[in-house]
This record gives sequence, structure tokens and C-alpha cells, in this order.
Amino acid sequence: MSNATPQKFEFQAEVKQLLDIVIHSLYTEKEVFVRELVSNASDALEKLRHTQITEKAIFDEGLELEINVTTDDKAKTITIQDFGIGMTREELVENLGTIAHSGSKAFLQALSEGGAKNSNLIGQFGVGFYSVFMAAESVRVYSRSWQPEQPGHVWTSDGSGSYEIAESEGERRGTKIVIKLKEDCSDFAQDWRLKEILERYSAFVSFPINLNGKRI
Ligand code: ADP
Ligand code: MG
Repeated sequence: MSNATPQKFEFQAEVKQLLDIVIHSLYTEKEVFVRELVSNASDALEKLRHTQITEKAIFDEGLELEINVTTDDKAKTITIQDFGIGMTREELVENLGTIAHSGSKAFLQALSEGGAKNSNLIGQFGVGFYSVFMAAESVRVYSRSWQPEQPGHVWTSDGSGSYEIAESEGERRGTKIVIKLKEDCSDFAQDWRLKEILERYSAFVSFPINLNGKRI
């Protein structure tokens, strides 16, 4: 099988449990997914900056350390791109297929302890990357690591049990997340709507954010 052929993976059981809650949640502040993805982009840029101190060979060295967000209200998509550290194939599987990270773990822990209602827990813990499925019908994550010898990949999922990874040619360093919005969340693809949300969070992000080519 060539690497360009998509390979299918099952989400870890805990992830399936989490996604089931996230997807069926009636949580009203769905916009938290924007905060989560922008904060991941910012983390990735910070990690790249750190890596640049010790590593000589960085793929796509000259790229700006900034976050680019674009919207397409006809296609009902949002794209969030960073030129950060990126992910290898193994890292995509580990980071976007399991619950290896703090936020989601704490969320499931609180849930199993039967604490507050689910809807409150989402806001309280921040479900991290998986929160995108509150608003997304499907998600494509294009990523290419800073490591020069690693190829780019595309990770795709509709959040229902499994995801696919295929090699993808021509990717820049970092990560580009393309979100196809659910019908009832399509207002997030309006420039003014996303601007309002990003303006609220950008104060906490130490890298420039551009929305449809304009600095926030
Ligand atoms: P957390 O940010 O708490 O670790 P997330 O669910 O938000 O949890 O993200 C999971 C992991 O996926 C991150 O720790 C990171 O390793 C990886 N990741 C997510 N988004 C990106 C990105 N834009 N660039 C690089 N790695 C990312
Ligand atoms: Mg995060």
C-alpha cells in the first residue's frame, strides 16, 4: 500500500466516549472550539521558536510565526493555519487519536466522578482539539513537521469513531485545520462573527492573528 492511500484508524475508546458527549452536547457556547484551536496554534508556534534555538535544520525555516484564519461562508468552512512545529504521522495518531493530554483527561475524570452537568464541564475544562466536533461536520488537518525528512500528511474525520491519515504533498511547515461546519453552525463562517470571537481571545495569544488577510 502506498502512503498516499488513506489508512483508517479507530479512535481510542476514551476519545469515542468524549466525542460522543461533545457532538451531542447542547452546550451553547460552541465558539470555545475557536479558542482551543487558536491556543493550539499558539502552542505550536511557541514550540517551534524553542526548537529553533537548538536545531540547525528546520524545514521551511523562514516562515512567519503567525496564525492565519480564513473563512468561506459559501463553502461553510473555517481554516486555521499556523507555521508552527507541525506533526509527524506518529504524532497525529498520538495527539489526535488518543487522550494523552491534560484538558481532555481532566474532563473525563470529572465526568466519571459524576460532577456537574456535562454542558458545564465542557466550558470548565476545555475539551481541547476534540471540541471542534461541536461545530464541525468534518475536519481535515494538514500537517508537516519541522523535521526536514518527514513528509506532510492529512488527517480527516467526521468525529464518528474513526479517522484516516494519508500522505499529502506540497504542505508547508506547521498545521492547517479545515473545518466544514454543521448546518446550524454555519454562522461561524461569517467574517464578522469570527472577528468578534478572535478579538476576545487574541489578547491572550502572543503571536499575530490574521483573519482573511487582516491583522486582528
Ligand atoms: P492540549 O493542548 O491540552 O495538549 P489538545 O486536545 O488541544 O490538548 O491538543 C492535543 C495535542 O495535539 C497537543 O498537545 C499537540 O501535541 C497536538 N496539536 C494540536 N493542535 C496542534 C497544532 N496546531 N500544531 C501542532 N500540534 C498540535
Ligand atoms: Mg489545546
